[in-house]
Amino acid sequence: MSFIVAIDGPAGTGKGTVTKRISERTGLINIDTGAMYRCVTLECINKGVSVDEESKIKQVLENIDIKLIHEGGNQKVFLNGLDVSKEIRTEKVDNLVAKFAALKIVRDKLTPIQQKIGQDNDIVMEGRDIGTVVFPNADIKIFLDCSLEERAKRRYKQNLGKGIDTPYEEVLSSIIERHKLETEREIAPFVKPKDAILVDTTNMNIEEVVDEIEKIIRNAWHK
Ligand code: C5P
Repeated sequence: MSFIVAIDGPAGTGKGTVTKRISERTGLINIDTGAMYRCVTLECINKGVSVDEESKIKQVLENIDIKLIHEGGNQKVFLNGLDVSKEIRTEKVDNLVAKFAALKIVRDKLTPIQQKIGQDNDIVMEGRDIGTVVFPNADIKIFLDCSLEERAKRRYKQNLGKGIDTPYEEVLSSIIERHKLETEREIAPFVKPKDAILVDTTNMNIEEVVDEIEKIIRNAWHK
């Protein structure tokens, strides 16, 4: 039986960095499910397929090959054989991913792939529906939260670091819009799993968050 840690939380909580560090400290394999939704979105953009063209999206899904490769602590994302690790984090994908992720055909394709990974490996998997839909029986469920303003501030700074100078107000409204789409969608809406441990990161730095989650894992996982 594999050991599964589910980490759910909205954008801007530091989820990606936290999960990566937890993976380095514990040896659990880090699976970023958001990267998979981003790949589907990128492939649709590249093929000129819009979110209301269901039969074309179906075709894209039939031919898509997504691989998460771990190299020296870094995760690389390959879409149909090409390294798209950077491209899936660009604004064009940010702006559309929540719409593609709301589609049943997209979730029906990706959820079983994620479940299969967890059957064969000890993992820490992050996303929006890991503790509710993908692994409702996960050994540990963590819910990372953070105030909207702090999330926007972090994303704003992250953007500046990448040389992207989007005004703070714009970043805030895009975070609010994405959050609304994710929490109000019909399939696998983003909610805190009832039995998840809440970690509010608003006034914590990354190191403190990682320490706290590592403690929770070590208490439950004796390998
Ligand atoms: O975590 P990240 O921001 O990279 O995820 C990108 C998008 O993918 C989210 O905004 C969300 O709409 C979608 N997603 C999802 N379910 C997951 C992971 C991500 O719907 N398990």
